[in-house]
Amino acid sequence: MSFEKLHLIEPILNALKTEGYTKPTPIQEQSIPVILKHRDLLGCAQTGTGKTAAFAIPILQLLTAEAANSPGPKEIKSLILTPTRELAIQIAESFTAYGRNTGLRHTVVFGGVSQHAQTEALKRGVDILIATPGRLLDLMNQRFVHLQHIKIFVLDEADRMLDMGFINDVKRVIAKLPAKRQTLFFSATMAPEILKLANTILFEPVEVSVTPQATTVDAIKQSLYYVSKGDKKNLLIHLLKDKSMDRALVFTRTKHGADKIVKELVKVGFKALAIHGNKSQNARQNALKDFKAGNTRVLVATDIAARGIDIDDLSHVINFELPNVPETYVHRIGRTGRAGASGIAISFCDAEEKGELKDILKLIGKPIPLVTEHPYPMSATEMAVSMPKKDNRSFSRNSNSSHKSSSHKPAGHKPASSNSWSGDKKKTWSNK
Ligand code: AMP
Repeated sequence: MSFEKLHLIEPILNALKTEGYTKPTPIQEQSIPVILKHRDLLGCAQTGTGKTAAFAIPILQLLTAEAANSPGPKEIKSLILTPTRELAIQIAESFTAYGRNTGLRHTVVFGGVSQHAQTEALKRGVDILIATPGRLLDLMNQRFVHLQHIKIFVLDEADRMLDMGFINDVKRVIAKLPAKRQTLFFSATMAPEILKLANTILFEPVEVSVTPQATTVDAIKQSLYYVSKGDKKNLLIHLLKDKSMDRALVFTRTKHGADKIVKELVKVGFKALAIHGNKSQNARQNALKDFKAGNTRVLVATDIAARGIDIDDLSHVINFELPNVPETYVHRIGRTGRAGASGIAISFCDAEEKGELKDILKLIGKPIPLVTEHPYPMSATEMAVSMPKKDNRSFSRNSNSSHKSSSHKPAGHKPASSNSWSGDKKKTWSNK
């Protein structure tokens, strides 16, 4: 399938060529024709699948036709609501890229920065507005934004909106939209609550769904290190000595944890920066810019700050701490291995994180290869005291006799081999 077959107009095809896109991704192939037919869409897709272009391209095409038919002052005809500033900026960058030959104008509004530049851009007139909910409501209340001309509304990352407590803000925005409009609804997961929201705002939607999470994970080379909490920092430093790890995104659970790691890394001479909610918007943007440009080798991030970060050529994702929500693991490692490229995801697991690991394995439905040959293995005592009994036995090398019990096998977790703990340097977190 080519972009030409999707009946895209020349200015957009040329822009896609400039971007170096040769063919649509599955979500684009499914969504673009539906959106071009003015249908509502319920899309189940996460970042990394090409979902931004899946809605941006047809919106640009529909609005280009619309602009040709009704010249006049620019009104906001499409609104894209997204949960984080980083995502908003990335979506705006996509509209800049794909819309460069269309003459359509867009702008982006988000909180945490002065609104002046944003209101100035709005006053000049835009066709497309990309916004986070809080700042949008602010600007609506101040009458800088009017939504009565909206023809196409996109709710991006609906599940994250819910997680982040934005649902009431989202509903307030939706209440101001014209009833007659096209609505595109995207979410990485389709929990009952999400579907309930979708049902209230979509009209006879076409459903599209791509890459079940495990498939996305398949493209990424994952590995797992058992390590004591106190040794994680040393293990990270050890791994960073590998020069092939040219750009690593390290995840921590807390902002404080992120700052602490950066301090330690900088102390031993690595270029590292943190990105989290306590940093100013400028500091976050600069950190991201430095990281993208290759000036900073390690970016240490919390989940919310990193959500949707789109970095080409991100070679490694490192889970310094495992997330409590297993889906977050999939989101985190999805920052690497983008658009079909391969990536490497390394996870540290200490004695207290066995529960999280179990949930992750259950979700992804496959084992994560375990690396035992590293300078900071968990001590036998710690394994004996803290780990479930079976892991303790399995951890000792060449001990096939312990593989019979399955009491600690995560549910839904398929073993890769019957004696995956013995011998090899890389082993599989899997027991029969
Ligand atoms: P997204 O899922 O929207 O975050 O997109 C993930 C990444 O895929 C971004 O870096 C896009 O630039 C890239 N991308 C989107 N569509 C295509 C395509 N058809 N071919 C190659 N790369 C793409």
